[in-house]
Amino acid sequence: MERATLCVQAGYKPGNGEARVLPIYQSTTYKYNSAAELAALFDLESPGHMYTRISNPTVECVEKKVAELEGGVGAMMTSSGQAASFISVFNIASAGDNFIMMGNLYGGTTNLFLVTMKRMGIEARVVDESMSDEEILSRFDDRTRLFFGETIANPSLTVFDFDRFAPLAHSKGVPLIIDNTFATPILCRPFEHGADIVVHSSTKYMDGHAVVVGGMIVDGGTFDWTKGGKYPELTEPDESYHGVVYTKAFGNAAYITKARTQLMRDLGATPQPMTAFLLNLGLETLDLRIRRHSENAMKVAEYLESRKDLIESVSYPGLPGSPEHEKALKYLDGGLCSGVVSFSMKGGRDAAMKFMDSLSLASIVVHVADARTSVLNPASTTHRQLSDEMLREAGIDPGFVRFSVGIEDVGDIIEDIQGALEKCR
Ligand code: PLP
Repeated sequence: MERATLCVQAGYKPGNGEARVLPIYQSTTYKYNSAAELAALFDLESPGHMYTRISNPTVECVEKKVAELEGGVGAMMTSSGQAASFISVFNIASAGDNFIMMGNLYGGTTNLFLVTMKRMGIEARVVDESMSDEEILSRFDDRTRLFFGETIANPSLTVFDFDRFAPLAHSKGVPLIIDNTFATPILCRPFEHGADIVVHSSTKYMDGHAVVVGGMIVDGGTFDWTKGGKYPELTEPDESYHGVVYTKAFGNAAYITKARTQLMRDLGATPQPMTAFLLNLGLETLDLRIRRHSENAMKVAEYLESRKDLIESVSYPGLPGSPEHEKALKYLDGGLCSGVVSFSMKGGRDAAMKFMDSLSLASIVVHVADARTSVLNPASTTHRQLSDEMLREAGIDPGFVRFSVGIEDVGDIIEDIQGALEKCR
């Protein structure tokens, strides 16, 4: 089925006389008729739910929907995108190991990888697109466990070059993990471009209404964990689970099964059934919404580009002049580039703040990617403590504005921008 159909139909198939809409199984626990049946579940011999920290029927339906949308063999929902990123790495990396990360990842992910995971003895090694293949390959060693990138990076809007980086990762025998949050599976299916694991902050376009925080990990089922002996946690007995060997017992779903049965059990970064229900409502309209976001954003980017009097530069992969444009056409379906547009105001931080204060339809929020148009200036908010000089060193222009284009009428959005720019003259 096409993705628009999967958004609506996948994951939940009611039987005769059952609720047409995905029910909310608001229960932490599940009843069994015999001790033996429950014991089989604990031995991972039969499928079923035992405790909502590990799995839940409502959550499971949404996981199935996202797995189908991405074209993977299984998915696990988490309590947030941060939890998804963390578990996706920690599932195959331990103290003493390292991994490769792109330097343009979302700030929260960068902090998690470079600061917090460092305290666990796991080292993230930063690479970027400007480096040669030789330079990037020289960052790998025999303790390197994975390569991590973002399809459309937040907020630089750089498009990940799958054809270049997937073969590099695979030549070193490690999987490619991709954060597909901004693109969503409607605009890009990373597994079709060589990725092995996909993660999401479902808080963004998947929910799309700014109502629930959540995350998702999807297993492509294609990576051979047994090759090269690099992943003993998947290929050797797990003493915390009766000596199960995940690759033997679960085949191409080894990675996602271990993430749930071992890490979700131990870490408890569990999504609530109500959250999954609300996420499912968002997913039903994802195909419609992400197209509208993308079309609106393209028009907004074109308008901003025409305002060279007040705007220094506009960054949007859909613009033909963008250095990301070629990759956008190659990897993003229909060249649709999602809803976030970044630009820099002439006049720096003060001009950016004046512009934001002068908007009326677009609201100032610490969020992107929902139905309502919103705006953020890192220099005056999330990066407020930094001087202009420090900001530039961190690659952020003080006049930089991250504009998340909603699904309102685009004429109204542009009129709002136009009115605000007039006040910045
Ligand atoms: N990945 C990306 C690309 C994001 O934009 C975010 C949040 O903004 C995250 C991960 C973290 O997700 P969450 O806020 O759901 O924990």
